[in-house]
Amino acid sequence: MNLVFLGPPGAGKGTIANKAKEILSIPHISTGDLFRSAIKNETELGKKVKTILASGELVPDSVTIDMVIERFMESDTQKGCILDGFPRTIFQADELSKIRKIDHVINFELDTSSVVKRLSGRRVCKSTGKTYHTIYNPPKIEGIDDETGEPLIQREDDKEEAILNRLKVYEEQTAPLIAYYEKLGLLRNIDASVAPELVLQELLSLLSK
Ligand code: ADP
Ligand code: AMP
Repeated sequence: MNLVFLGPPGAGKGTIANKAKEILSIPHISTGDLFRSAIKNETELGKKVKTILASGELVPDSVTIDMVIERFMESDTQKGCILDGFPRTIFQADELSKIRKIDHVINFELDTSSVVKRLSGRRVCKSTGKTYHTIYNPPKIEGIDDETGEPLIQREDDKEEAILNRLKVYEEQTAPLIAYYEKLGLLRNIDASVAPELVLQELLSLLSK
């Protein structure tokens, strides 16, 4: 089964994908995570996209699509996957349709003020990518990753100026995908404002229909 998780940054796509991937036994492919890992490892791709990510702009379509195609070549994606943060433009969606049959597009619905609260409180462990929230999902010890004991960081693009830009980019370039997938009969809306366990439950019940 191939799923696309759509929705504004901070809606909880990564949080739910991390839980759902175990239950559905398919990998979670986050293009944001792939870019951050390239930046951390200082690869050619990482050097190319570092400033783009920090600003909240989108990486060019061709670069993003090539990276996804490469990821699809890995055998764990044969049974399907959860795409999180891809596609983000109509062009990416058109390209994706040529290489994968998408079963459902899950649209995480969340109002803007909640999005801002979630993004500004998000903290991550740089080495594992594990995500917390200062209020909604705090670590056991403030500022420290539960598993590695490393200090948690705030993503560069979770700082106020970049958040506002990302929301603008989302509205202009990604939100049109809602109508695009609705027209194809693939769109499934879920209420992302409730606790993660309830969001997950809604997702699983929708998939079992
Ligand atoms: P996305 O992948 O859509 O950008 P994340 O999964 O990283 O979003 O979630 C953004 C922030 O909101 C994180 O700090 C996460 O801990 C928190 N979060 C995620 N889902 C929920 C939820 N259902 N309720 C409250 N906070 C949440
Ligand atoms: P995310 O982790 O999904 O919030 O993505 C972080 C950043 O990575 C985005 O703000 C973009 O700069 C870049 N990015 C992730 N996915 C894509 C995509 N599908 N197309 C273009 N840029 C992307």
